[in-house]
Order: sequence, then C-alpha cells, then structure tokens
Amino acid sequence: MTTLHDAHNHLHDETLAPHLERIAEGWAASAGAGGCMVVNGTHPGDWERVDALARRHPFVRPAFGLHPWDLGSERAADWLDRLEARLAADPRASVGEIGLDRWLLEARADDSRLLGQRRASMEEQVEAFLPQLALATKYERPATIHCLRALDDLLPLLRAHPRPARGFLLHAYGGPAEAVPELVELGAYFSFSPSFLEPRKKRQRLVYRSIPAERLLCETDAPAMPPPQAWRTHKLPLAPDGSILNHPGNIEVAYAGLASLRGEDARELAGRVAENFTRLFGP
Ligand SMILES: [Zn+2]
Repeated sequence: MTTLHDAHNHLHDETLAPHLERIAEGWAASAGAGGCMVVNGTHPGDWERVDALARRHPFVRPAFGLHPWDLGSERAADWLDRLEARLAADPRASVGEIGLDRWLLEARADDSRLLGQRRASMEEQVEAFLPQLALATKYERPATIHCLRALDDLLPLLRAHPRPARGFLLHAYGGPAEAVPELVELGAYFSFSPSFLEPRKKRQRLVYRSIPAERLLCETDAPAMPPPQAWRTHKLPLAPDGSILNHPGNIEVAYAGLASLRGEDARELAGRVAENFTRLFGP
C-alpha cells in the first residue's frame, strides 16, 4: 500500500480532542503504515499538547513555533528560550508554525477567526520570525512558514538571513508561480492543500503545476481548510461553533487532487512526495 504523509496540520487543536480515536483510525486507513504527520504548535501554551501527542503516537512529528496570529496575545516573556529548549530536547522536532501575515492586518474588525486577538504589526511579526528561523538554522531543523499576502515582506528576509540547511516549507503556498524559481533556490518546499480544490481557487491550484516535483508535499492543515464537500472522504461532527472540522485522513484528497492536476500517476507522485518528506523532515 502507498504511504502518505501530512506535512502540516494541528492535530493538537482542542476542537479535535473529542475525536482523537476516530481520527487515528481514519488516519491509518488513509495514510497507510508508516504515514507521518507534522503537528504544528502555534504558541507556547499549546506546545505541551503537541509534545504529548508525539510521545503517544509514532506517526506524529512535533513542530513548535509562534504563529503571527497568536503573536499579539500569546507571547510569554520567555517564549524563545522555551522554544529552544523544546528543540534541544527532541531531535525529531522542527520549527513551525511561524510566518508573516498581511491579511491579518487587513481583515475586518469582526472577523470571527481573529476575535479577542491583538493583531501584531508587521514589524512585530518580523521581530518574532527571524529568531525562530535562526533557531531552525542553528539546530539544523526544517522550518514551516505561513505566508499570507506577505511574500514581498518574506522574500527579502529569506535572502538576507541564514536559512535551515535542510530547507523550509511554505505551507499552502498561495503566491505567484513567478516567485517559485527563486524560492526553490532559497530552499523552499511547497505543500498542496486540498482546500485549493475549491473551484474559485483556480489560480492557487495552477501554480502547483509549475513546482518542481522534488519540492512538492501535501498537507491538510486540519482542523482548518477542509476540502470541498464533493472531495471530502473523512468527516467529523461539526465544531461547537458550527464550523466544519477537517480530518487529517483527508490527506488522500490532497494527493489525489494534486496528481490529477499535474496529470501524474498517483502512486508515482506519492512515492516522490514520500522522498521529499523524508529529505525535509528526516526519516
Ligand atoms: Zn497551519
């Protein structure tokens, strides 16, 4: 059976806690024996939950980071020391999710995804991003980067600063195809999200035709970014706030969607993505 890897999700998210047993079963059926997922903490308060999952489930690879959305409200004074301690303690741990986000600064005041959060300015985001990139470089771990409408901010930073020798992941990359060659040169991998299969996301989808095969990965970003209803193979009950919860088992949707988009054989693509996953995140 083919082995599938989810390069980016948030299995530790509290909304998934009541469904963990069901998710583990669905994951095994979808990803096969040996399939791994990189579970990304987004602020110091959730790193322990990520670590606990990694100790319990052999398929979980832990990642620790401070995300631009959480930076405004969840930044403990000693966060950077705690991040370094996490990396030093676990050689499988990578850095993520970190990044830059201009959408955050432009979103409506009543956007439910940002309720109660203080929005960190771009200066503040850069100030948190750079030391995390530096830690990934120092410990020779990959970094997982969230970049939303901020490629013009990110590119100069990547050019000017040391980057992880293993490379970095631009998760759910939604930038232009023209930027791909330089990003590849800088060490980028790109993970395809099944949410790009939404008909209206044609632009994001088509970019993945021009990404070199040796830099492709697949992700779910679960519980966020569910695939379109018609594609969804794994379902969960709705979240308490009525939103759809994405099941990591939907990783098979990302692989199937990407293979059909590129006109490639699904098994061959899965084999290549597995090689890429191991090269970036380690065996
Ligand atoms: Zn994410």
